Order: sequence, then C-alpha cells, then structure tokens
Amino acid sequence: MQSFSYFMPTKVICGRDCVRGQGALLKELGAHALIVTGKSSAKNGALADVLAALEANGQTATVFDRVTPNPTIACVREGIALLMAAGADFIVAVGGGSPMDAAKAIAMLAVQERADEEIFSGGYADRALPMAHVPTTAGTGSEVTPYAILTNDAAQTKTSISSPAMFPRLAFLDGKYMEKLPTMSAVNTALDAFSHAAESLLSRSATPMSGMLAKESLRILYPLLPQTAGTPALEERDALLYASMLAGMAIAQSGTTAVHGMGYSLTYFYGIDHGRANGLLLGGALRLSEKKNVPALQDILAACADTLGGICRTLDALLGEREHIPRERLEEFARRAMSNKNIKKSAYEPTQAEVLAMYLNAFCESVS
Ligand code: NAP
Ligand code: FE
Repeated sequence: MQSFSYFMPTKVICGRDCVRGQGALLKELGAHALIVTGKSSAKNGALADVLAALEANGQTATVFDRVTPNPTIACVREGIALLMAAGADFIVAVGGGSPMDAAKAIAMLAVQERADEEIFSGGYADRALPMAHVPTTAGTGSEVTPYAILTNDAAQTKTSISSPAMFPRLAFLDGKYMEKLPTMSAVNTALDAFSHAAESLLSRSATPMSGMLAKESLRILYPLLPQTAGTPALEERDALLYASMLAGMAIAQSGTTAVHGMGYSLTYFYGIDHGRANGLLLGGALRLSEKKNVPALQDILAACADTLGGICRTLDALLGEREHIPRERLEEFARRAMSNKNIKKSAYEPTQAEVLAMYLNAFCESVS
C-alpha cells in the first residue's frame, strides 16, 4: 500500500441559501468579524447574506472591501491594520481567490508577525485567526486549501505561502452568487479548476485520496467547460463550484505542478488572468505527459471521457485568440520557471528546453 496522509479540516456546507440557513455555525468563530472581500460581493448578494447571518447571531462586523486581483503584501498589511483597529477576532472571506487568499494571509500574519522580506520564507507556526470562506467564483478552491498566493514584488512573481493554519474552519458553497459572474471570469476560473484537477493527478505528490478527488472533479467539470462561455444554468453553477472545491481538496494534498509555476510570470509581467494563464499552458503540459508516457495522463483522459486531441480542442475553443509575447521574453520566463518549486513537483520534471517549448506552444501555435 502506498504511504500517504490526508488532512482537510474545513467543514464544508453546500446548498442554496446556506449562508443564511446555516449561519449559526459562524457563532463559534468569535465576536467581531473582519469581512475580507472585493467590490463585487456587495452586488452578487454574498456580502448581504454574511452580514445578515452575523447580525442574527448577535455578532458585529467591519468590512474590508479593498482587495483587488492578485493581492499584494500592502493589501494584507492594510487588512491587518483594520482588523487590529476594529478589534476583530475572526475573519469571513467573501469573493474569488484574491479575497480568500488575502484573508488567509491576514488571519495568519495578524497572530505571528513577520517582516515583509520574511513572508515567503516559510516555517510558520500552526496559528491563525479562525476563518469562514464564501467563494463567489468556481476556480481556485482556496476555501479548502492551506495556501495563500500573494504578489511577490521582490522576486517579480507570485508566491504561495502554505500552512495548515490557513485552512478555513468553515466554507459555505452556494452557486447563486455566480449568477452574474462575467463570462470571461467564468471561463478563466473554470480553466483554473480544471488545471488544478489535472495537475494534481500529474503531481509527484499525488496520493490515492487526491487522485480520487481530482478524477471526480474532472468528471463533473470537463463536460461543463463549454457551458462557461455561455450562460450556465444555476444547477450548472452549483456543479462548477462543487467541482472546483474537489479540485481544491486535491491540490491541498498534492500541490500544483509546472503549469502553475510557469503561469505566474504570465500574470506578473503581462497581467494575464491566473486561470487563463494555466489554460494556455495546460495543453502543452498534457502533450508532454503523453510523450513521456506519464501514467496519470490516462486517468485524466478516462475521467474526462475524451481524447487528448479532444481536450486540447475544448481548451482552444475557450481560450480564443492568444496574446503575443516575444520569444525573448518566453526564454526569460523559461529560465525563471526552472527555479520555481512547482516544476519539481511534476511527475515528469521538464527540462528548460521543454519548459520553453510549452511556452512557445501556448503563444505561437495552436495546441490542437
Ligand atoms: P479574483 O481575482 O478573486 O476575482 C476576479 C474578478 O472577478 C474580480 O474582478 C472580482 O471582482 C470578480 N468577481 C468575483 N466573484 C464575482 C461574482 N460572483 N460576480 C461578479 N464578479 C465577481 O479571481 P479568482 O480567479 O477567483 O482568484 C484568482 C486568485 O486566486 C489568484 O491570485 C490566484 O493566484 C489565486 N489562487 C489561489 C489558490 C489557493 O489555493 N489559495 C489556488 C488557485 C489560485 P471584485 O474584485 O470587485 O470582487
Ligand atoms: Fe490556480
């Protein structure tokens, strides 16, 4: 039997109106909440539901709604200052991966101080303020992972911080908040979730449990991918959110691989959305897995019930026209990617030439 461990301490509550219906669960987290969010949650109904649930419990709240995509250390510091000033003793994160990740970093750094230069050096104590997360995109699965990904200006990239302390205590999943999610966000976040599930299977650290979660995620998610470019029905939104959570549970065990490691340069230097960056690179990574006979590729194809060519065509259709990035920049990104720890996580660890080929594949020719 393969040796492995499984740890995922988040209580997950799924279902329509679960924030208001099961809001009493928030009572045990504390007396005064810092709600960490972006501007969209005031429009999609999630913020109102959280505020109503807290009020019904007799809890008070301060709203920090200044989180923007790809959160920075400055944003985290601003959140901590507000948390301290308000005397908040727990956090409710409402939004996509950006507010959820900012919330995690705030929850941990509020109780274990670090200088900015030390934030990415690891070795965190298992201590953070309690958190509840309400995802409003179906992509990152951050509500069930121990990771927070922050913009790392010193290293000109995005870097993940990881600690079991950053698993939220509670996650509330309700697809209704995504009814007005812009099509581009729906597509990009679904590509992120798809990439998580596929990369989890292609990870050196995959376990039987992460494999089971990733395959079930792909089985649900893959047939829904084309729908994200149209107007998914509410039940399809729910299914996308559930599949994204399963993929999050999978990467919480296995981590991600070369695709995520390579995507960070595309986001940092070209502002390409995180999910799209992964979608652009994934076809090349799957093709390389085929070439190198990585066994997990067959699991991916079986879970999607499609061929590699079919998957690449599905990705192509969602990605549309590719950005133009000069070859010299891609060569520089390939050099940078080699020092990213995710590269070493890949079941087949690509060489720098193969990393460059994947970048070229993403921007210079179709993956199909
Ligand atoms: P996001 O950056 O959180 O949000 C993208 C955009 O969507 C924002 O403009 C946001 O608006 C808007 N939005 C969110 N929910 C909406 C809704 N229901 N209706 C309308 N608009 C909505 O995007 P994301 O893809 O969810 O998260 C990406 C981040 O997560 C990246 O930083 C990535 O590195 C990270 N990530 C983390 C993990 C992890 O395990 N922790 C895994 C993968 C990715 P507002 O800003 O106005 O709210
Ligand atoms: Fe991701």
